[in-house]
Amino acid sequence: MSVKYIFITGGVVSSLGKGLTSASIGMLLEHCGHKIAMLKLDPYLNVDPGTMNPFQHGEVYVTDDGAETDLDLGHYYRYTNSPLSRASNTTSGQLYDTVIKKERKGDYLGKTVQVIPHITDEIKQRILACANQDKDIRVVLVEIGGTVGDIESLPFLEAIRQFRYERKKDCINIHLTYVPYLKAAGEVKTKPAQHSAQVLRGIGIFPDIMLCRCENPLSSEIKEKISLFCNVPEESVFDERDVLQTIYEVPLDLHNQGLDQMICKMLDLPAKKPDLTDWKKMVHTVTHPKGKVVVGIVGKYIDHQDAYKSVFEALHHGAAACGVKLELRKFESDKLKDFEECDGFVVPGGFGERGWEGMIRCAKYCRENKIPYFGICLGMQVMIVEFARNVLGLQDADSTEMNINTPHPVISLLSQQKNVQNLGGTMRLGAYPCELVDNSLAKNAYGQSLISERHRHRYEFNNEYKKAMEAAGMLFSGTLQRGNLCEISEIKDHPWMLGVQFHPEFKSKPLHAHPLFKDFIASLVCEEAPI
Ligand code: GLN
Repeated sequence: MSVKYIFITGGVVSSLGKGLTSASIGMLLEHCGHKIAMLKLDPYLNVDPGTMNPFQHGEVYVTDDGAETDLDLGHYYRYTNSPLSRASNTTSGQLYDTVIKKERKGDYLGKTVQVIPHITDEIKQRILACANQDKDIRVVLVEIGGTVGDIESLPFLEAIRQFRYERKKDCINIHLTYVPYLKAAGEVKTKPAQHSAQVLRGIGIFPDIMLCRCENPLSSEIKEKISLFCNVPEESVFDERDVLQTIYEVPLDLHNQGLDQMICKMLDLPAKKPDLTDWKKMVHTVTHPKGKVVVGIVGKYIDHQDAYKSVFEALHHGAAACGVKLELRKFESDKLKDFEECDGFVVPGGFGERGWEGMIRCAKYCRENKIPYFGICLGMQVMIVEFARNVLGLQDADSTEMNINTPHPVISLLSQQKNVQNLGGTMRLGAYPCELVDNSLAKNAYGQSLISERHRHRYEFNNEYKKAMEAAGMLFSGTLQRGNLCEISEIKDHPWMLGVQFHPEFKSKPLHAHPLFKDFIASLVCEEAPI
């Protein structure tokens, strides 16, 4: 049986939630019994988002094989079981890099190298490579970043047009568009949606399904209008409402409108009714909490809502697993006040000096007042530096990232990182195995001795300080397997103060909360609150 392809484009404006929608469709098809793979095509020229400022791009999602990828892959991970690797995200930068390298090698045999066909052929190759990751894959979902009409995304759309032309029966296009309600006019407007479908048609792509982001469900008159003017049958016009209680309701809402059955019909796939019991149960727990915890997040990029996307989601998963509602308080790390309002704190990953001393103040406050603290990557380094300064009395202890001349470099570069010149793709990246010690918070939470977690950092704990720290009450509960890098630190005389050098948030799912996030939230749930 041939592999089927679903292309998902976005129209009118960005931030319509294309990644979440693609992930939701993937989840529904998986629940219909089809093995899927997901691919994100990004039109920008960076080779990957690794070198981009989080304020520009939001979180960088890291895969097991160490690829630094778009944050939409985080949605794919949370909603589906799609394989995720370097093959799941391609940027224009990578495509041009490949084509130019081939040109220099003489692979094009004297031809003029052009966007069409050379870049478009490369795009088609990436789509096929995604399908070939596993022989059982039946459906590939390809999300195209950006908005139709952007100059940058034209080669991608042209490649899709050709791909579809070559496999007429095996492809559909889903166009996510915007149908706003204009308050002043008291009306829902379809014109932007019409225009975005028109732009697509101008490129030679006819949408098969129109998915309309809107405030409230669309009336049948509006759907009729969209159908007529966008050249799509009325039963193929679906709405995606804004006001749901949790993002995990999106696939249920789409399923209730029959989207999964329609896709299966169009692609001639067996349309088994999906069993969504587990997902519905999870949504019910999230929407019917039995208590509340307040978690403070102290970070540098707190104003950007996507910069710590996976951390926020993982905390929500932990809260759902404990049956409580999570209230997040966000603290800019250089403007800290009102610590008292929070039950516990998270210091997530980050780079550079700004806000560093504020994070250390947070760790000090948590250690001294026995308030739960969860340090992730930079947050573990913060915890170690604070301990060195205030417990060991090494006043100027620091990370060499923040102070290259510190007399006590408790966090420093490994020798292999010292001569790194290029910033892109040169950190410790991807999955590493870690061994846990008995009688530790970590081992207790994971319930096993060997774990695998994903890394993205340059600096490490300096083992020269290990003995002194242990003697003063720090437990190094996780170590790189067959190595000596400290991956987890805990404060022994404390209810829950733990730092991890890796990024556990990348491996948390709503149906399987990450053990550390679950255990952290559980430590905040006061005794009276029923779990
Ligand atoms: N800046 C730190 C390092 O490179 C932490 C990185 C992170 O938090 N991802 O080691």
